[in-house]
Amino acid sequence: MPICFDLDGTLGTFSSGYLLLREALGELWGQAPTREELGRCSGSTDWEIVDELHRMRYGTGLEEAGYAAYEEACVRRFRQTFAPGGEAAVAFRGVLEGMHWLATTRRVWLVSGNAPGLLAFKAEVLGIDPAIPRLGSLPRHDRSDLLRLARRGCPGPHLYFGDRPHDLAAARAAGMPFVGVGEQVPGAHPILGADAPATLVVEVATRHARADASES
Ligand SMILES: [Mg+2]
Repeated sequence: MPICFDLDGTLGTFSSGYLLLREALGELWGQAPTREELGRCSGSTDWEIVDELHRMRYGTGLEEAGYAAYEEACVRRFRQTFAPGGEAAVAFRGVLEGMHWLATTRRVWLVSGNAPGLLAFKAEVLGIDPAIPRLGSLPRHDRSDLLRLARRGCPGPHLYFGDRPHDLAAARAAGMPFVGVGEQVPGAHPILGADAPATLVVEVATRHARADASES
């Protein structure tokens, strides 16, 4: 892989995200999952979360068609909510700029827990170059699976930028180094503020990205 970036909380924020997820499922399932039910979910990707909520509601796992319906309903709500004159996303300008600089000389991927259509929408809102590949939440894959998919066939250097403990756990499971963004993922890894300048993002990425041991 490449140098991978999570999206929400790492490159910017879209408030009310989980509210829109619950509303989208309420539209499809007749009643929205409660905040408490959402809190009981242990997964960090849309597939995992909607699958867990589906099991709580119906006692069976989610199918691909149900996931596609969720994705469509959720994207529609995000498009309405973040339309001009509505809510505005907050972009972390320096981190975004640093990612684009890195992409001029290295492989860079977006690897996010958002369903692919939602990730595409959010990436567009944040002004992310369409040439940077996006990998969103796929059926029956967790976040570390997504990181492994992104790194397939690429000797490195590898690195994952994320903002939550589940990002750190996924990076560890996939065997790649990690950089935290913000205050929600303490630890021994490097941590950048959400307001970090692009130069610092590039410097930290250059210093901490690591190639596969067999390739170095
Ligand atoms: Mg995140």
